[in-house]
Amino acid sequence: MKYVLVTGGVVSGLGKGVTASSIGVVLKACGLRVTSIKIDPYLNTDAGTMSPFEHGEVFVLDDGGEVDLDLGNYERFLDIKLTRDNNITTGKIYQSVIDKERRGDYLGKTVQVVPHITDEIQDWIQRVAMNPVDDTEEPADVCVIELGGTIGDIESMPFIEALGQFSYRVGPGNFCLVHVSLVPVLNVVGEQKTKPTQHSVRGLRGLGLMPDILACRSTQPLEEHVKVKLAQFCHVPIPNIINLHDVTNIWHIPLLLRDQKAHEAILKVLDLQCASKVAREPQLSEWTERVSRCDRLKSPVRIAMVGKYTGLSDSYLSVIKALLHASVALDRKLVVDWVPSCDLEDSTAKETPDAYEKAWESLKGADGVLVPGGFGDRGVQGKILAAKYARENNVPYLGICLGMQIAVIEFARSVMKLHGANSTEFDPTTKTPCVVFMPEGSKTHMGATMRLGSRRTFFQATNCKSAKLYGNACYVDERHRHRYEVNPDMVPEFEKAGLSFVGRDESGERMEIIELPTHRFFVGAQFHPEFKSRPGKPSPLFLGKQDILKHVLVFCMFKSVFFASERSPLNFGTIHEHLGRIGSSVIRPA
Ligand code: GLN
Repeated sequence: MKYVLVTGGVVSGLGKGVTASSIGVVLKACGLRVTSIKIDPYLNTDAGTMSPFEHGEVFVLDDGGEVDLDLGNYERFLDIKLTRDNNITTGKIYQSVIDKERRGDYLGKTVQVVPHITDEIQDWIQRVAMNPVDDTEEPADVCVIELGGTIGDIESMPFIEALGQFSYRVGPGNFCLVHVSLVPVLNVVGEQKTKPTQHSVRGLRGLGLMPDILACRSTQPLEEHVKVKLAQFCHVPIPNIINLHDVTNIWHIPLLLRDQKAHEAILKVLDLQCASKVAREPQLSEWTERVSRCDRLKSPVRIAMVGKYTGLSDSYLSVIKALLHASVALDRKLVVDWVPSCDLEDSTAKETPDAYEKAWESLKGADGVLVPGGFGDRGVQGKILAAKYARENNVPYLGICLGMQIAVIEFARSVMKLHGANSTEFDPTTKTPCVVFMPEGSKTHMGATMRLGSRRTFFQATNCKSAKLYGNACYVDERHRHRYEVNPDMVPEFEKAGLSFVGRDESGERMEIIELPTHRFFVGAQFHPEFKSRPGKPSPLFLGKQDILKHVLVFCMFKSVFFASERSPLNFGTIHEHLGRIGSSVIRPA
């Protein structure tokens, strides 16, 4: 097993995640099998209890792991399946060491950060790197490890120490360190400045880690003399200084790496250059074709994204990516109209009429309405109004998790005239509970107590839209993250009134997919289809077309595509550009 460690210096948000996944893409294109590990030096055991509005979305894996959104990036870029153990946190490491101490495993020794925590980190990395990455059940050839945070952070110290030791443990030729840094330009002088990189490399060396490769982020391509200076002061050969300048979309990053022969530099350090070990030059034709198609897209598709919008688009990252994958596949340019659901509510009309008007204008101008997952009752009424609007006006609607529950509540209230109908999440004493707490859930513990991960949905009819979209399959495995479900006791009433529950779990009691047969496209899923969407394999429910290769048109729900920045800063546009303010934003890909 060979390891590539990616660290970051100077400032946070340089896009280590995208850089690390892009390195993976290029190595994979060389014929190597690649896996990845993300280290998050925070104390939370996992990302499940962290606010998506502070930290970006919680990504969910097949095994039910609630992990950092970078793991989503790895799964999408490398088209692999990761496990919860691929996301290491300080919390997990300490928990494991403390469990061992309680069991008496340390035989009376004093338990310390060095060597116990540092050994635990190294053992964990080696164990997880050997996990099979695909159906072959074979371990990967290369494991890309991304260390979250910036060199110098107090909380990442044990990891730095462990990784320094690890480079000795695995030995020369098996460990390559890529340091991602920033080369800023000061407006006054207009010169590319190397000093921040010099300092951060010095910091890295001071902690016992020697960079093999520098990945320098900059606005414009690096000037040659700047590279020479970096090489001189950072003791890294010029061919190992890779420049990741701003590009139109992050799918360009693997191509930038390839064009600068980053793979050759990495393979040399990893002693993988001889022909018997590495099959070929990177083959990226499909990737390149998609990048240029994406750059050429003109015809827009507008999707109204109705959520608890707070300005951090990373909160819905995978949904945006899934929309993007579908729109690129359909040759459309994705435009997302962010509609804060509260703004659709009557109270906003009185308090801030401009916001109310803008929200309704966006909703009415959309080609499709999407209500994503969510928790808590803020803005629920606005989401219900969005679902009602889509249902009554035959506008394509995709409701994900909470978005499906919202559609059910709206149907109960408007069509079945059950005016008090609600979810017990929002009104625990409602007389008409059409969405209820699942019996197996916990009300006292928040971490990892939801219905999580991959579960099977069985289609109840062959002629429904979703079964067709999934290629007439009998069942589909998708990822879940919820505590509430449609009240199974009310299902017969709903069906009588015209709402179809076309997908259910193996017991037939838990509702997984709803459809309105009389509507153009009104679909809700209790699962999150966005987590399994890939650039080359868009999720069927987002695509809305049965088989685009054979041009069997079922219905093109989202007439087009979006472009999203990857995790905030690294859209390789401006360093701190976030996806849209309130209003519409054309999204850059990934
Ligand atoms: N809050 C809802 C539940 O727990 C929906 C969750 C979600 O959208 N992920 O069931």
